[in-house]
Amino acid sequence: CGIVGVVGKLNATKVLLNGLAKLEYRGYDSAGIFVNDQGHEAVLIKRVGRIKNLQAAVPDTLTGTLGIGHTRWATNGKPTEANAHPHVSNDGRFYLVHNGVLTNAAELKDEYLSDVQFASDTDTEVAVQLVAKFVRDGATTKDALRHVMQLVQGSYAFALADKEDSDTLYVAKNKSPLLVGLGDGFNAVGSDALALLDQTDTFLELHDEELVVLTADGVRVENLAGEVQKRASYKVDVSE
Ligand code: GLU
Repeated sequence: CGIVGVVGKLNATKVLLNGLAKLEYRGYDSAGIFVNDQGHEAVLIKRVGRIKNLQAAVPDTLTGTLGIGHTRWATNGKPTEANAHPHVSNDGRFYLVHNGVLTNAAELKDEYLSDVQFASDTDTEVAVQLVAKFVRDGATTKDALRHVMQLVQGSYAFALADKEDSDTLYVAKNKSPLLVGLGDGFNAVGSDALALLDQTDTFLELHDEELVVLTADGVRVENLAGEVQKRASYKVDVSE
């Protein structure tokens, strides 16, 4: 299983499909992408099975400035299209991919989301419906994600897209792998460097319980208290 995300000048669709193919070796039962384009329609596509099935379902014309993609290894809920990621909040605004397991998802659902109709059996959907709820209650997208990080138990690498803001990608990690790939005019995230090596050789390591806000030309790493974390980049040697 794995995740990939990108924002900026690249063709997001291509980066996602290439990255997901590179992550295939980690194992998966389904895959999906969400692509958003400035001023254009936002598109969600998910398929059970091989990455090839997903590739075949994605039109060549689909381009975007922001995207998130996922290969799923089911832990909560069968490998179906409805359970494949990205998951979307009921208001249609937030899209989330997740690797890991949220062990208190059922409790959070009971406590905060008893009035919400769920579209999947996953732990992940609880997280995206919570983000939408906290934003509805007045939080910014970033603060809503931070609130989710404070509430959930277990492991996660999250990439979150706000349909109303195609310039900003939000990610967070705890006990699941995730790193940032730095580019010129774009920034990206992936479960491992392999997923992004066709775009960049420069990376930022992330620590557990960090939240990152990515734009085309900025990467801001924060801890759970909201304090900015300084982080030196490193280069991966791509010569074989
Ligand atoms: N727990 C999530 C699910 O079952 C994510 C699984 C994964 O890491 O792929 O959908």
